[in-house]
Amino acid sequence: MDTISAQSALTDTSRHYLELEEKYGAHNYHPLPVVLNRGAGVYVWDVDGKRYYDYLSGYSAVNQGHCHPAIIDSLIEQAQRLTLTSRAFHSDLLGEYARFITDYFRYDKVLPMNTGVEAVETAIKLCRRWGYQVKGIPENKAKIIVCADNFHGRTSTVISFSTDPSSNSRFGPYMGGFEIIPYNDAEALGRALQDKNTAGFLVEPIQGEAGVVVPDEGYLRKAKEYCEQAGVLFIGDEIQTGLCRTGLMLACDHEQVRPDILILGKALSGGVLPVSAVLADDDIMLTIRPGEHGSTYGGNPLACKVAMTALSVLKEEKMAENAAVMGALLRKELNALQSPCIETVRGKGLLNAIVIRHSNPAAAWELCMALRENGLLAKPTHGDKIRLAPPLIITREQLLDSVGIIRESLKLLEK
Ligand code: PLP
Repeated sequence: MDTISAQSALTDTSRHYLELEEKYGAHNYHPLPVVLNRGAGVYVWDVDGKRYYDYLSGYSAVNQGHCHPAIIDSLIEQAQRLTLTSRAFHSDLLGEYARFITDYFRYDKVLPMNTGVEAVETAIKLCRRWGYQVKGIPENKAKIIVCADNFHGRTSTVISFSTDPSSNSRFGPYMGGFEIIPYNDAEALGRALQDKNTAGFLVEPIQGEAGVVVPDEGYLRKAKEYCEQAGVLFIGDEIQTGLCRTGLMLACDHEQVRPDILILGKALSGGVLPVSAVLADDDIMLTIRPGEHGSTYGGNPLACKVAMTALSVLKEEKMAENAAVMGALLRKELNALQSPCIETVRGKGLLNAIVIRHSNPAAAWELCMALRENGLLAKPTHGDKIRLAPPLIITREQLLDSVGIIRESLKLLEK
């Protein structure tokens, strides 16, 4: 079913909202034609009252489940007290939050931001500053190594080192100072690190947007080792992989790698408001001084309060453990389907993808439309890959029920 015929199957209510977006909103996304107005736990509901499993979880921002009661309580309570001071003044929550999150992840300091890409930008600035001030790289020569097929966000700097033409074409001129090497290739990293002006290596422990590309075991450990030998900062972008998504608190934990700069976002607020963070030790973080970086909303009291609760419930409700167990079950059940239309199933914890094998290039989209019909929401990434990443609170029963929906929906492609 193409988008037009799919839309014609929609109710008038849904079509009304789609038309509003189409007419008045910029056309910078291509959403599945479903209009949601409620969420609770692993479920979302559309404007006609139909219920779906959410297998995207707001691109892993809703790890804790939709409208987690404790997170929403914190939001409401703090929203009625104080939401924003700006950093011109102190609040009674920023220090408390800073102590909480640095204890939680065992870093000296945190720099709070809002969206994921702002935290990536912050990490890049911090890394460059460290490169000049501590490592002694000549001014304007600092290089950061990144990986092909990366996704770190959408700002002009960050798309400058994207290899995806839909992210960067005709948005130049681009920011220099980045070298792109293949992902999952420690030897390529070793070669790139020979440049003495290298300040950092920025990497996703699993490439989420690229279609949940899991590197070989040992890659991250070796990359960290090489960075240490070269005196280069290892920057872990855990915006999508972090916060229990892959079955441990951080995806880097699978290889006992501690990033020198850790970037978090998305589920840091449980999907309630944009909250991101950069964590590092003093020798790195204190190279940025007052007035040299910031954001009006960064570290606002509402965000601080919500983030503390969002982090607390991850541990209290053992979401990492559940993600590990449910993820393994999901991959086992999907493999057991033995569908000729599934090329491969891959992932870690509850960050998974299926790669579709089909003569029709639109097959993944059509499968997502069938899933929608049958009560499960997922979205293709890069054509033939479908990410399967439900909230981490999913139960065994819900997971098996979802696999039943996937099995039914695959029949459409198998015809
Ligand atoms: N980094 C990674 C690994 C991401 O997956 C994303 C978003 O998907 C970002 C950065 C950008 O985050 P945001 O969309 O909040 O700016």
